[in-house]
Amino acid sequence: MADIIKLLPDHVANQIAAGEVVQRPASVVKELLENAIDAGATLIKLIVKDGGKTLIQVVDNGQGMSETDARLSFERHATSKISNAQDLFNLQTKGFRGEALASIAAIAHVDMLTRVAAMDVGTHIKIEGSKVVSQEVVATPKGTSISVKNLFFNIPARRNFLKSNQVELRHITDEFHRVALVHPNVEFHFYNNGSEIFNLPRASHRQRISHVFGSKMTERLVPVEEETEVVNITGFICKAEFAKKSRGEQFFFANNRFIKSPYLHHAVVSAFEGLIKPDAFPGYFIYLEVDPKSIDINIHPTKTEVKFDDEHTLYAMLRSTVKHSLGQFNIAPVLDFEHDPNLDTPYAYKEKGVVLPKVTVDASFNPFQETTKNVGGRTSTFKKESAKGWENLYQGLDLDESGGFSSVEIETETVVQGTIYAENEMEAQTGTTFQLQRKYVVSTIKSGMLVVHQNRAHERILFEKFLGEITVKEGISQQLLFPLELSFTKQDVEVLKEVRESLYNVGFAFENLDQETVKVTGVPVLVSESGIGTVLDRLIADYKEGYQGGSISQAELLAQALSRNLAVKTGELLDTESQLALVNDLFGCKEPALSPSQKQTYTIISEGDIDKKLN
Ligand code: ADP
Ligand code: MG
Repeated sequence: MADIIKLLPDHVANQIAAGEVVQRPASVVKELLENAIDAGATLIKLIVKDGGKTLIQVVDNGQGMSETDARLSFERHATSKISNAQDLFNLQTKGFRGEALASIAAIAHVDMLTRVAAMDVGTHIKIEGSKVVSQEVVATPKGTSISVKNLFFNIPARRNFLKSNQVELRHITDEFHRVALVHPNVEFHFYNNGSEIFNLPRASHRQRISHVFGSKMTERLVPVEEETEVVNITGFICKAEFAKKSRGEQFFFANNRFIKSPYLHHAVVSAFEGLIKPDAFPGYFIYLEVDPKSIDINIHPTKTEVKFDDEHTLYAMLRSTVKHSLGQFNIAPVLDFEHDPNLDTPYAYKEKGVVLPKVTVDASFNPFQETTKNVGGRTSTFKKESAKGWENLYQGLDLDESGGFSSVEIETETVVQGTIYAENEMEAQTGTTFQLQRKYVVSTIKSGMLVVHQNRAHERILFEKFLGEITVKEGISQQLLFPLELSFTKQDVEVLKEVRESLYNVGFAFENLDQETVKVTGVPVLVSESGIGTVLDRLIADYKEGYQGGSISQAELLAQALSRNLAVKTGELLDTESQLALVNDLFGCKEPALSPSQKQTYTIISEGDIDKKLN
């Protein structure tokens, strides 16, 4: 048989390597920023257009490259950073694999201008899909400027796989943060579609963190510091009371490199044990300095996963250092364990004795305090949270029961036909509901017993309500007498801008969306004034986590986030009226059986089931 094995041509090998190194525009940003840092730059500009799909440019004032080096830098395994395998265990630079530029040039149009200080003129190289198109002498400032255009131009499958510009920009911003946070002595400018979104002067670590995440950060940070034989730990943790639902501000750096380490993350979280709720995430910016010999960075092409020699010791030290800081700054006792942040949300409910008899008032009395919702054929009136809590929420429920929404009635029929139960059977009758373990609402129906999961059911109800409002723009806004000023990180403001219209449709109104301090001038009637900050924070977090521009629409995602944050929780006591409304509203939904996150909302225990148990 003839020999069949052959060496792949370089451009093919480069494209294969690119598959590992360059997943999306953000990967290019990471590599270029790291190269600029390695070149000793003190000023770095990042310029992107259209989420990096059209252009990513990094300009630095670093050492630049000679004419020959400029040409060589695009070869695979061409690096100035290591020369033998031993060097791998004494890395002082971010790069060392010599494959980033070769990979990038294989899948994009690249323009590089570079000059070393010793020369009067520099070099301009143009490369497209690994082919050098031109190389000429050029007048250019000292340092390097690399533009990467039309990423994945020759791999349509990869290009199509890219998400929306906003999503890609968010990934780019994440990479930018990771580099900027660990190099506060470098000045950074970041421009997106022509406007400057970050301007970071040289600063201390602490200042850099607040330049990146907003000035409110400063007061939240507590320093951590520990010097041992094995590791030097420096950095900051966020006070426990600022722990967020989002996984947002959590950064580990090892020897000035951003790393991901679920194991060390656990060490930090466990130090917060008892201080924060189990589902909250503490924020941290922790810089670890270890002997380069004791860390292996070369276990993954993107170099964010690393291996420490003695992870267990590191874990223990980190945990106790964080604990120590928390104790030292005496922030443990200020937490009020009784205070449930959920109580700040509109469904806050303080236990109360007697259920008030229902009084139906003129539901149209104050249009700014209530909104009419119309979900799947049922119309009920939600009122703004009152100090008394729940009893008012479903007031006026039967006011519009007939409603005159004949077209929607039909939908209800469809829904019911879809289930095996007749419509009237699902309707809970007054006095036949009760609450079990503050978790379920139980009601008798013809065929037996209906058990509704209160939290999931309410999420479903609110989800459909908000989804309706976002699409038909019918949400009613409650104007705030005194607009509330809230500060957000730049990235969060970008999210707010992105979803502004949908939020407007459900009742949120903002001003000053160009600054860190956003003015909230209106909120949906379901949101209490004291809960606005929490609701928006969580909304942004949920949105960032969930929205990858893929299968789920923005409207659905927001409706889901809002419903999750505003729905009545397990553990909340409901009065009879609210229980009844919950059951009835649930079965007025288009898809009553599942919560927005696809969990079952109710179950039925039939007479037969009970008979079986009793035989
Ligand atoms: P690596 O960073 O792993 O060495 P790269 O492909 O990223 O590999 O870069 C190849 C080489 O090009 C680097 O080793 C460096 O010598 C040179 N280089 C890349 N970017 C710059 C820059 N911005 N300034 C100066 N030299 C650079
Ligand atoms: Mg590099």
